Amino acid sequence: MVGDGRSYLIVGNWKMHRTVSETVEALLELTQRWKGAEGVKVVICPPFTAILIAAKTVAGSEIRLGAQNLHWAPEGAFTGEVSPVMLQELAVDYVIVGHSERRILFQEDGPAVAKKFAAALENGLLPILCVGENGAEREAGRQGQIVEEQIREVLTPLKEPGKFAIAYEPVWAIGTGKTAEPEDVQRMHGHIRTILGKCGVAAGQVPILYGGSVNASNSASLLSQRDVDGALVGGASLRNDEFLAIAGQAAQLAGRKI
Ligand code: PEP
Repeated sequence: MVGDGRSYLIVGNWKMHRTVSETVEALLELTQRWKGAEGVKVVICPPFTAILIAAKTVAGSEIRLGAQNLHWAPEGAFTGEVSPVMLQELAVDYVIVGHSERRILFQEDGPAVAKKFAAALENGLLPILCVGENGAEREAGRQGQIVEEQIREVLTPLKEPGKFAIAYEPVWAIGTGKTAEPEDVQRMHGHIRTILGKCGVAAGQVPILYGGSVNASNSASLLSQRDVDGALVGGASLRNDEFLAIAGQAAQLAGRKI
């Protein structure tokens, strides 16, 4: 739990989905239907090609924007990459760093994730660091150790990290329809707070999100766990009704004094 009351960060990761026109259509509907709620921030991470139009479409609304990735350099000979400075100009507030799809499919290693995390902070973006074990690591009971290594790798080089969020995303739960049990998620989020404390970070100030096949049917039980401060939603964020239902559940839970 961050702060005194409950507050939630609900992030939609659209991955490589939606063209410019599809983005406008989806965001126009979202901005009309999501009027904001105390204690809930809703963030959409469209593909790079749609961020500029997304920024224009959500301007003045209660929807914030994030990017799905960034390069660590401000500019340079890095064909195909996008820098934090470029994102800043697009009114992007958040950026996903170290998503398992980038780690696995694009061979992004720990040092690269650490550089991206630092670059995001230096440029005033709030990084959402994704951590989580794969199926084999879970079966071997190594999930706690894996997550600790992934967090330490990023935080160790930094003196004062500033504002960031963590998304616990067990790899075996992403896009598979398998969700971690709420009690297991709570245990891992508690572990993450302990790791943050050991790294000298004010653990209570860092939102810890859960991600991995979150949908409108399982979100309430996940979000009601004490140390779950939000959700990183992939597939279900592509369906406005379902995504808004998840945000609505967060609003109900934030409204209760827990
Ligand atoms: C994700 O992309 O971070 C994710 C959690 O995807 P999904 O919700 O589809 O499992």
